[in-house]
Amino acid sequence: MSLIAEYKAHTEERLNEGNLPPLALTAEQTAQLVELLKADSVEEADYLLDLFKNRINPGVDDAAYVKAAFLNDVVKGNVSCSVISKHEAIEILGKMMGGFNVSPLVEALKNDEVADAAAEQLKNTILVYDAFNDVKELMDAGNEKAKEIIESWANAEWFTNKPALEKEIKLTVYKIPGETNTDDLSPATVAFTRSDIPLHATAMLQSKMEKPLETMEELKQKGNPLAYVGDVVGTGSSRKSGINSVQWHMGRDIPGVPNKRTGGVVIGSIIAPIFFNTAEDSGCLPIEAPVDNLETGDEIVVKPYDGVIEKDGKVVSEFKLAPNTLTDEVRAGGRIPLIIGKGLTAKAREALGLGAFDMFLAPEQPKDNGKGFTQAQKMVGRACGIEGVKPGMYVEPIATTVGSQDTTGPMTRDEIKELAALSFGADMLMQSFCHTAAYPKPADIKLRHTLPDFINSRGGVTLRPGDGVIHSWLNRLCLPDTVGTGGDSHTRFPIGMSFPAGSGLVAFAGVTGMMPLTMPESVLVKFKGEMQPGITLRDLVNAIPYQAIEDGLLTVEKKGKKNIFAGKIIEIQGLPQLKVEQAFEISDASAERSAAACSVQLDKEPIIEYLSSNIALIEKMIEEGYEDARTLQRRADKMKEWIANPELLQPDADAEYAATIEIDLDKITEPVLACPNDPDDVATLSEILADPKRPTEKIDEVFVGSCMTNIGLFRALGEVLKGEGEVPGKLWVAPPTKMDEAQLTEEGYYSIFAAAGARIEMPGCSLCMGNQAQVSEGAVVFSTSTRNFDNRLGKNSKVYLGSAEVAALAALLGRLPSKEEYLNMVPKKITAEKRDSIYKYLNFHEVSDTELTNLVH
Ligand code: SF4
Repeated sequence: MSLIAEYKAHTEERLNEGNLPPLALTAEQTAQLVELLKADSVEEADYLLDLFKNRINPGVDDAAYVKAAFLNDVVKGNVSCSVISKHEAIEILGKMMGGFNVSPLVEALKNDEVADAAAEQLKNTILVYDAFNDVKELMDAGNEKAKEIIESWANAEWFTNKPALEKEIKLTVYKIPGETNTDDLSPATVAFTRSDIPLHATAMLQSKMEKPLETMEELKQKGNPLAYVGDVVGTGSSRKSGINSVQWHMGRDIPGVPNKRTGGVVIGSIIAPIFFNTAEDSGCLPIEAPVDNLETGDEIVVKPYDGVIEKDGKVVSEFKLAPNTLTDEVRAGGRIPLIIGKGLTAKAREALGLGAFDMFLAPEQPKDNGKGFTQAQKMVGRACGIEGVKPGMYVEPIATTVGSQDTTGPMTRDEIKELAALSFGADMLMQSFCHTAAYPKPADIKLRHTLPDFINSRGGVTLRPGDGVIHSWLNRLCLPDTVGTGGDSHTRFPIGMSFPAGSGLVAFAGVTGMMPLTMPESVLVKFKGEMQPGITLRDLVNAIPYQAIEDGLLTVEKKGKKNIFAGKIIEIQGLPQLKVEQAFEISDASAERSAAACSVQLDKEPIIEYLSSNIALIEKMIEEGYEDARTLQRRADKMKEWIANPELLQPDADAEYAATIEIDLDKITEPVLACPNDPDDVATLSEILADPKRPTEKIDEVFVGSCMTNIGLFRALGEVLKGEGEVPGKLWVAPPTKMDEAQLTEEGYYSIFAAAGARIEMPGCSLCMGNQAQVSEGAVVFSTSTRNFDNRLGKNSKVYLGSAEVAALAALLGRLPSKEEYLNMVPKKITAEKRDSIYKYLNFHEVSDTELTNLVH
């Protein structure tokens, strides 16, 4: 079939699939298209030109390479094309946003025939990276057009040529009452469609609202763009795909970019911080404003500069735009283009010997109150080359470690392509395949074949499907007191600190090695007293919201919800002897608190032990052929450097916190669980069993797995199950890494799981991710995983979250144990003599080389 017939058939098919636009052309299709455009007489010229101009991804996409090469040939006169003139070729190159189009445009500056046109296009191109030096060299050699371009960049014409944010924005409200989490916007069950934005957007709000697509279509008939309005918007995972879907329905097209939109307005009484940042990065306007007086179908006027929302001429809500740079961000097309463009302007001004520029809004910076810094403030400070960073300061810290997992990987790759990057500036970027490893769909398999090369060729490290959960690996690559980010909202380093983000920001941090950050306030969580018998780390995780509720700093009710942790950094003190693996259980759960990040104050000893283990692992990874070997070796060397001089940042005594929560370990005398279906709805076992509203009669299914677990917890599960025969309900077991799997098998625990009738899943996220296997509809579940949002583990499931030890008893009994049962049974199974060997962590530097090879192979 010819390209034309094939693409028309595909277009028709997509139209029938739900009014979807066709997919962008592949490199192969683009090459075929180029051949058609070269013909003496071009058949269906308008149609082909439209495909060529508008249906090819820009940046460093393979198809963009073919497109740019052809246009370059047209400009140079190497090929003749009857439907694209040299000037038109330059114009089309100019819409490709950066990457493969830049070099042909710079070359064209030497060609008098098209130099003017090329200069006009380059003036508005900001993704030029090293090509800046090529333009400067031309300027220095006397090329007038090159000089014009540098002057234009210096004067920020790339910015001033764009329209400013409107003073009045007329919109129609689509209100989603209560809380929308990012899974409502971008369900994990259809994660494999995320890079096909129009298709993925058809799943938006389907599990939350009645006929959302039809409602939005109807509302658009009023002639205004829609505003996304909700009480609490964007909690949960950091999903760029959530914003992509909102923008697909409520934003505007980007000329020359297929199947992606920008703009849009989101209004929420509370907007979750990561979602807010992702919106900012994407050119959307997020506004935190009361929404009580807004209802679906209302026609409103948003006046961003005045901070009011009007309905029928009357003010119905008021707000203050924050950050103060938001209007510049929207004008630039997002926070990321603004940062890149400002960098280019600064470079151009320096090249021309000009002073600083006050065209842009300067971020409001807080006044120094003379007080000391918290541990987190010092970590960010170090990443910025200063002593500390106070809350509210806008900074751009070095992102030393960046993580990307497979369900957002394709989007991160698309963003990297759009940033036109061919190498990573971040010291370590790691890609995992844990979210789709067990039950891959065809798109996941394709990703496994293509993504590793893309990441490795830019200096990143890729794991392999079946290796295990991203964090259980990424944590092992972290350096103390450094800062990073990741596309999974549970990217929360146990040493150092991570600010998880959407795939746009992750790509940006990977490419540039820095990230934009408005420093959040910190909440200090301070443990005191002695850990009581039978109490686990997971109980301490749940004790944090428990105590916050008691202190009046957190409420469970969504309407008017109070959450002291939202958007803040949780700083943990009082547990300095924790192993780093344990510290991660606490920092991991800061995602459920909607916190921006978490730091844990640890002693040097557990960190030295952890890094020593990780150096052995990294060096074995290199031996086993993991790529990029240089990046891995560099990281191992930095760990060795730190161990040679182990210094840790300490908080100042007079550092200030937004709140301090004190947790007395002496008072935690029984397990604390998160109840269905809210990780904030925590209660003790006794409270749960005494509450008739809680589903307590039967536990249908138990899941032991996720990044909240480590090898010791699986041994504990095995010890409880040993010799007890098959469990009455369903038991799922999924160790976090292949090394855990190998070691547990070696130690005989897999045979215990089999005897208990467990369904053993391959290492990875398994049930936790919700996109692979699921529990039965309506099941009451006990899980060790991270979160229990509605429908995450299975349709209409009711999920308790707690420790592996309670999970083991719940599996054995088919119901929740009572406090007394728990405190009696657990010590009998996990005896004092065996505790050390049960809860022993995998220390790779303490095993023989052969054993290590067997674990990592
Ligand atoms: S185990 Fe769950 S929380 Fe952890 S990375 Fe996987 S899906 Fe995310």
